[in-house]
Amino acid sequence: MRPRPYLLNELTWKTVRAAPYEVAVLPWGATEAHNFHLPYSTDNVETEHIAGRSAERAWERGARVVVLPLVPFGVNTGQLDIPLCVNLNPSTQALMLRDVATALAGQGIPKLVILNGHGGNDFRQMIRELQAEVSLFLCTINWYQVVDPMSFFSDLGDHVGELETSVMLHVAPELVLPLSEAGPGAARRFKIAAFREGWAWAPRRWRQVTDDTGVGNPAAATAEKGRRYVDAVSGKIAEFLVELARADTGSMYE
Ligand SMILES: [Zn+2]
Repeated sequence: MRPRPYLLNELTWKTVRAAPYEVAVLPWGATEAHNFHLPYSTDNVETEHIAGRSAERAWERGARVVVLPLVPFGVNTGQLDIPLCVNLNPSTQALMLRDVATALAGQGIPKLVILNGHGGNDFRQMIRELQAEVSLFLCTINWYQVVDPMSFFSDLGDHVGELETSVMLHVAPELVLPLSEAGPGAARRFKIAAFREGWAWAPRRWRQVTDDTGVGNPAAATAEKGRRYVDAVSGKIAEFLVELARADTGSMYE
């Protein structure tokens, strides 16, 4: 099999030294419990797949995009009491991002997209701080917010529900246990209305919120729903990558 020119994990120096890459994509996931039916690697498997699919479609349209190796640990400070949920603090992530961005900038890569697949990660404030110090253009996407999930799924929980389970049934069905083994993903809501309404915010203590680690019922998940959703998400991200590759970052406004 020939290496795919948009996946750094498969490339040698022979290809890289001759390719003027315009956009690097850094997939960033998490290692955490996903109910009783999906593996700890779920966010990583999903995010890596969507990064690769999006880059492939952008490459076919002429954009020189390269996907970097995925960072497998995310912010899991609300799950420190769940065995083998591996937390990386935001301040540690900021240092990692700084090193990656500084290296790429020094090598003349003009643009970096962080493709995030975990709700506890938030790269926006890190980018605000770092963008003032590096020459390459920084931006971030949460892939689960790219298209409206309402037109694909009926139950919109935000962790291991119908969306994530459908995506995994499409992307890596060999890693999904029978749905009969899954818990219902029932989540306890905050007692204080402001938190329920979303205009006050505090991180959730996961063990107190849910018994099976899920927030959202996976029962209606299917591989076909996952296929349609991943296709829509990666199509839209590919379009963005093509536009970004062509863009003059000194002139970004209408
Ligand atoms: Zn997840």
